[in-house]
Amino acid sequence: MKKKKLTVALAGNPNSGKTTIFNALTGARQHVGNYAGVTVEKKEGTCKYNGYEILFVDLPGTYSLTAYSIEEIVARDFIVSEHPDVVVAVVDSSNLERNLYLATQLLELNVPLVLALNMSDLAKKQGYLFDNEKIGTFFNAHTISTVGSKGKGINELLEAIIAKAEEEPSAQPDRVRVTYGEDIEKELAKIEPLVDMEHALAEKYGRRWLSLKLLEQDKEIIALSHKQEVLDATAGGIKNIEKIYGDAPEVIVAEKRYGFVSGVYEQAVKHTVQQRHQISDLIDMVLLNRLFGLPIFLLMMFLVFKMTFSAGEPMMKLIENGFGWLGGFVSGFWEQGSESPLRSLIVDGIIGGVGGVVVFLPNIILLFLGIAVLEDSGYMARAAFLMDRVMKKVGLHGRSFIPMMIGFGCSVPAIMGTRILDDRKSRLATIMILPLMSCGARLPIYALIIPAFFTSSGQKAFMMWLIYVIGVSLAILLALILRKTLLRGETGVFLMELPPYRMPTARGLLIHMWERSWLYLKKAGTVILAISIVMWALTSYPKAGADKLAGLDEKQAQQLQLRTSIAGRAGTAMEPLIEPMGFDYRIGTALVGALAAKEVFVAQMGIVFSVGDSGEGMDALRTKLRDNYTPLQGFCVMLFCLISAPCVATLAICRRETNSWKWAIFQFTGLTTIAYIITVIVYQVGSLFS
Ligand code: GDP
Ligand code: MG
Repeated sequence: MKKKKLTVALAGNPNSGKTTIFNALTGARQHVGNYAGVTVEKKEGTCKYNGYEILFVDLPGTYSLTAYSIEEIVARDFIVSEHPDVVVAVVDSSNLERNLYLATQLLELNVPLVLALNMSDLAKKQGYLFDNEKIGTFFNAHTISTVGSKGKGINELLEAIIAKAEEEPSAQPDRVRVTYGEDIEKELAKIEPLVDMEHALAEKYGRRWLSLKLLEQDKEIIALSHKQEVLDATAGGIKNIEKIYGDAPEVIVAEKRYGFVSGVYEQAVKHTVQQRHQISDLIDMVLLNRLFGLPIFLLMMFLVFKMTFSAGEPMMKLIENGFGWLGGFVSGFWEQGSESPLRSLIVDGIIGGVGGVVVFLPNIILLFLGIAVLEDSGYMARAAFLMDRVMKKVGLHGRSFIPMMIGFGCSVPAIMGTRILDDRKSRLATIMILPLMSCGARLPIYALIIPAFFTSSGQKAFMMWLIYVIGVSLAILLALILRKTLLRGETGVFLMELPPYRMPTARGLLIHMWERSWLYLKKAGTVILAISIVMWALTSYPKAGADKLAGLDEKQAQQLQLRTSIAGRAGTAMEPLIEPMGFDYRIGTALVGALAAKEVFVAQMGIVFSVGDSGEGMDALRTKLRDNYTPLQGFCVMLFCLISAPCVATLAICRRETNSWKWAIFQFTGLTTIAYIITVIVYQVGSLFS
């Protein structure tokens, strides 16, 4: 019978026991030479096992696969050019975190990988306990514990090598990989399609790897690229990343890789002896503590909300006065008390509508600033880590928490962000509950209502916090129900990354904060503008007849006009339905607008209570709310807006990402029904006590 031949490369850090393993595998059948053109020793040896003839190559020991040293280049070139059937990463498991760094780079090269956890005798003595299977899933590699110096685990290693070599080449393509965070992934996505122009290169190295190396400013790879577009895109990417992080991309990339390794370590290694001393680890002992971790996270969020309210006030006054002045200025073109529809359209509809939304920009900016600080410092990754424990209990993976965090900004990118979940059922469940992450567009509703009924800044922050917590809790509860019923299934294994803490840079914070705030402003200038005009028309027409208005004072006349208008009639028609929630026709009218975009609710309340044109602003509106409604009603409005039907943009993106109207409509009606039931219960029960 003809023997099947395999080539296997051994890679590893210096002193990981690579040569010892090599000797144990090959015995005396060795040959020593040099790699072509360089004076780096090349050791080859063969081994016969189970009908296979295996050629082992002992690669030079390296810590990394960059192009810093000749050893690294030789090792990398061998793997890329000679296509060994299997690469064995020999790691010193008594020093696992440092050693796995090289393994992550092999993972990125997409080679068939086997991990040899060598020095397992030392590791055991030091109190480490490895979950080999789990480590294996994270690296898509069979993982074997070995003691090279005693020949322990060598047969198992051979079995694993053969099993790996016989595996379908891409049994799990891209299932595991290091993710580099939004900023770097964005640049990679720009470079990858360009890299395709250099077919030979892209084929040899893989697009992602190539793009990553370019960003890492790898000299060898840069020298290979000849397309100007690629080099330009790379230079642009490097500049963007440096701007945001204040550090070169290769530093950030390395950090993320360590984050990956720390994640593996945290999830697959137990240590009976506490001996990790790095600063990040010390901080994490507190922040990731089983008992305190979650309360600390909730406290952090509370502080962010407190800052959102207290620091935003002066800036809001300024914007408000600005729009008030603008309204007055434009009004000045008509004579006093003019009934001109054009004046009303511009002043009440456009300036009032858009202004009513823009006023909340300071809140938005501050909230996103707070979130950016938590994200850029590395804390959010910990939050996801903490939530992982909760999420697993409800049948979702901690990774679902990442789109959920994005959902605090806007549900649309959040739903797109669920693409990182490749199991369809958990992805669908995540999409369904995402709108419960209170998005930025709901913030103006809270920012209007909370100060109307609650005075101290502690109370305000608490109410806001409460709303967010209700949203998240309900999301988790619904996920649990979905995963137990319609979307039952197993959750796959994913790695949670734990990058080291780093001081956020001012520029990075500004850029991240601005990206999101700009989205809000742009929306105010486009969608909200259009809706404001439509809503203005709906509340202004048809006009109440002059005969009916005769004899009424101004306030009564306004009320009558509103009741006569299309929106007013819709609100009135809704009244019997929404009354059990404590809402009247005016709130109903505003809710109609909120369907299109949540922020419109606020502008619409302004129109309904006809403030805004006189420059009275938000405080006047809040006074009116206080006079007309109870705090319970105010809370119920927030609750309903939080839970009920997501805006049309969410509906559209949900249909696109699930590729079915069925799910989009299910989400829309399901959430609205739940909102209705919960709000009715809260209002009815609350009314009993007040
Ligand atoms: P290389 O630099 O990766 O080729 O490492 P070597 O194979 O030269 O090994 C370095 C040292 O570690 C040698 O003294 C080996 O005897 C020792 N060694 C290798 N494997 C093990 C192991 O599993 N346990 C222990 N305790 N020592 C080992
Ligand atoms: Mg050696």
